[in-house]
Amino acid sequence: MKLSAQHLVRPEIAAMGAYHVADASGLIKLDAMENPYRLPQPLRAELGQALADALINRYPDPHGGGLKQQLKNAFAIPAAAEVLLGNGSDEIITLVAQALARPGAVMLAAEPSFVMYKMNALFSRLEYVGVPLKADFTLDLPAMLAAIERHQPAVVFLSYPNNPTGNRFPREDVLAVLDAAPGLVVVDEAYQAFADDSFMDLAGRVDNLLVMRTLSKLGLAGIRLGYAAGSPDWIAELDKVRPPYNVNVLTQAAAKVALKHMDVFDAQASELRRERARLAEALAQWPACTVFPSEANFLTVRVPDAPDLFDYLRQQGILIKNLHGAHPLLAHCLRFTVGSPDENSAVLAALNAYFE
Ligand code: PMP
Repeated sequence: MKLSAQHLVRPEIAAMGAYHVADASGLIKLDAMENPYRLPQPLRAELGQALADALINRYPDPHGGGLKQQLKNAFAIPAAAEVLLGNGSDEIITLVAQALARPGAVMLAAEPSFVMYKMNALFSRLEYVGVPLKADFTLDLPAMLAAIERHQPAVVFLSYPNNPTGNRFPREDVLAVLDAAPGLVVVDEAYQAFADDSFMDLAGRVDNLLVMRTLSKLGLAGIRLGYAAGSPDWIAELDKVRPPYNVNVLTQAAAKVALKHMDVFDAQASELRRERARLAEALAQWPACTVFPSEANFLTVRVPDAPDLFDYLRQQGILIKNLHGAHPLLAHCLRFTVGSPDENSAVLAALNAYFE
């Protein structure tokens, strides 16, 4: 007798849904924190040449040595730190969970935060402990410290700034977590390009700190490159669970071209910050909208009826993210990725018609 897939997978996997990606065809896509801009034409031509020259008959450089050096230079990674590469930072979360999984090991995170932390805890059978943020999405530091004391987590994940709330926790609070945590603390800086602070200066200097970043939000979501910087001891252990060729030849080649042109991405990030401010100010004019502070390339907003406004915007050709139902603290919240000026103006025009 054959057993069905549903019977053979673990019950907790059988019970869950796959990561949902909404169909955005024909819509203004503001649901996934992507950069709205394509590469400028000359850079596209340079990229085309680099991809044509790439040796795809060979396996990729397993250590990505040249790419790591370029990342160190481009993002001021301290000399004391080592770098780990991932197929997106999603994969780095997976590697951390895999390396630390053993009976009784705990992953701790503030909640709501990036859902892949909890999902990877489940996949790797780590115990997961979520510590709720306060109602205004600020970190509940006493509760975090008490949970660390009680659960002695092997790893703590903090998103800095936090997704899906957009705010950045106070630096002192993260330092207090680093100080109290017995294990690894991953500071996930996916949105660093849009934020006013970073922990990169401490990578390799504070032993239990891993600073995780991605090129995705900068404008390279399609190539899937994430990286983490930390102390050589931690990186060496995490590297043992990494599949040998996890960053493919085309991704390495594309990233090497892109990193030579950081000025392009910096200029786009500055424009998105300006647009974020314009959007936040305009949204705040409607008394029905509560706009939460953001240091990311998205704005989280509470409205009277989030499902209704989400559906209305989709009818108007605009796809955002409905956070209502994802976590009790996110009741009637919507997340707007900051788009191009035209896209943001389309959002504001649609909201004007909805609220007026
Ligand atoms: N961390 C956070 C906080 C995120 O929001 C995301 C993407 N939404 C990621 C990590 C993963 O990004 P990627 O796999 O594209 O690097």
